[in-house]
Amino acid sequence: MIEQTLVLIKPDGVKRGLIGEVTKRFELRGLKIVGIKMVRVDPDFSKKHYAAHIDKKFYLGLEKFIISGPIVAMIIEGIDAVEVVRKIVGSTEPKGADVGTIRGDYAHTSYGHADEQGKAIENLIHASGNSDEAKQEVALWFSIDELHSYKLSHEEHTL
Ligand code: UDP
Ligand code: MG
Repeated sequence: MIEQTLVLIKPDGVKRGLIGEVTKRFELRGLKIVGIKMVRVDPDFSKKHYAAHIDKKFYLGLEKFIISGPIVAMIIEGIDAVEVVRKIVGSTEPKGADVGTIRGDYAHTSYGHADEQGKAIENLIHASGNSDEAKQEVALWFSIDELHSYKLSHEEHTL
């Protein structure tokens, strides 16, 4: 199934200079970036994006983190893109994320360390967790005229 999914390079990823490294990984896998922009979110928007987490004990730290600097937001399209992108991103806690994933290659912080500091886990990336979440998040972050339909060269040519 061809799907669209939301990826955010969170403020820590932007400040680390990883925009190119992250987008490269999706492009090299053959996935298509159909929308991309840099945005700074405010607390209201954070509460919309992380509505499912508002009652969790880590929410305030998470909000502080997500509003702390610009974010690069993109919509990625491809076959079963939600699942494939989550695999490329890796598991939530960088310490335990598999090497070869973005979180496993470029971060190593742990739940324990973040809790001790009263901070959110700084894990570089957000990616929609499932197909329903992806549909909601694509609509929340991008308007129709910010999404583009085009063919990658490997779709245009038989290689
Ligand atoms: N998070 C945190 N502490 C936790 C769980 C999550 O700081 O104990 C943060 C972390 O930045 C994570 C985000 O909240 O990426 C959203 O949590 P979720 O469980 O949805 O993880 P994700 O889908 O981002 O892997
Ligand atoms: Mg999630």
